[in-house]
Amino acid sequence: MRKIPYGRQHISEDDIRAVAEALKSDYLTTGPQVAEFESSVAACCGAGHGVAVANGTAALHAAMFALNIGPGDEVIVPPMTFAATANCVLYMGATPVFADVCPDTLLIDPDKVRKRVTDRTRAIIAVDYAGQPCDWNTLRALADKHGLSLVADGCHALGGTYRGAGVGTLADMTVFSFHPVKHVATGEGGMIMTDRDDLDQRLRLFRNHGITTDARSREETGQWFYEMTELGYNYRLTDIQAALGTSQMRRLPDFLKRRREIAAFYDERFAGTPVRPLAVREDVEHAYHLYVVRVPDRDRVFNELRAAGIGAQVHYIPVHLHPYYRNTLGTGEGLCPVAEEAYRHILSIPMFPSLERDDMRYVVSTLLETVHG
Ligand SMILES: *Cc1c(COP(=O)(O)O)cnc(C)c1O
Repeated sequence: MRKIPYGRQHISEDDIRAVAEALKSDYLTTGPQVAEFESSVAACCGAGHGVAVANGTAALHAAMFALNIGPGDEVIVPPMTFAATANCVLYMGATPVFADVCPDTLLIDPDKVRKRVTDRTRAIIAVDYAGQPCDWNTLRALADKHGLSLVADGCHALGGTYRGAGVGTLADMTVFSFHPVKHVATGEGGMIMTDRDDLDQRLRLFRNHGITTDARSREETGQWFYEMTELGYNYRLTDIQAALGTSQMRRLPDFLKRRREIAAFYDERFAGTPVRPLAVREDVEHAYHLYVVRVPDRDRVFNELRAAGIGAQVHYIPVHLHPYYRNTLGTGEGLCPVAEEAYRHILSIPMFPSLERDDMRYVVSTLLETVHG
């Protein structure tokens, strides 16, 4: 029987060569490959700086640190996301406050955000869910009005655009992940994009123990003195991973093209059927990390797809329904009814650049048979 995952990386011979070169070089970490990877992602999305870190979760943590988020602060987040989006607020001793999503796109709803703002609110983290940019102009106006910082969790949306501007330039900081299911893979990896020099500096401090210079620059300038001025972490990315990332970035345009072709194929075949894809805003170019549909009787459909070898997934269990959140913040059903209702019907179906046409047809026919049966 066929086995089709919902997402997977694509590694080429060029990617392998790039990693082999890094292994033969002088630096396995904190070397020139990291800076090159940072430049390639910054150039691609039009951002001023890129700061590479160990993974997307570390990138979110670093973003919260850079903004000095701390105890007593509130940060508004959507419930329809991976838990890390809210966990990063808890890492800083602050409180994530959940604002519900729009029913058609499952993107954070600016009206719901407005209702959650208090005098403790410091920032908004909005998620470009499935790869579709949020309503950034409205979020920006809201953030400016209340003096809040704006962070984009762009882990789904590398290569997406909003009104012609690249994801990576739409918030004070934008976070990417390079986990193998995402657009560009480094194994584990993450990056924060920003145009602000002050944030760039704090992010670099945070990923390196809070120490003011790194070992390589000390060696180059012949100095031994360093100071630790903040409590940071070792969140560095290796040169081995960065070399893979730079090589993968060259292939991003092809990856995006392929993802958009697959989405168009699915869109066409599901039109007028009980399989209902999410709405796409007029003013965006979707990056399609995920292809999410709503189906009746989701659990049965999920089981039948899995039995047919199709790796469907559910993105996501609303974060405020996880036991940890229920137990520590007292969240639960009724807090974000739109996300809770969507959660009962959504399914992510296979979406990755190397998905074959035969497999796409098989996914469509199996899914349509299942919902009709
Ligand atoms: C993948 C992902 C993350 C976390 O990234 P890691 O690299 O796995 O730590 C955070 N937020 C969202 C929305 C993601 O999809």
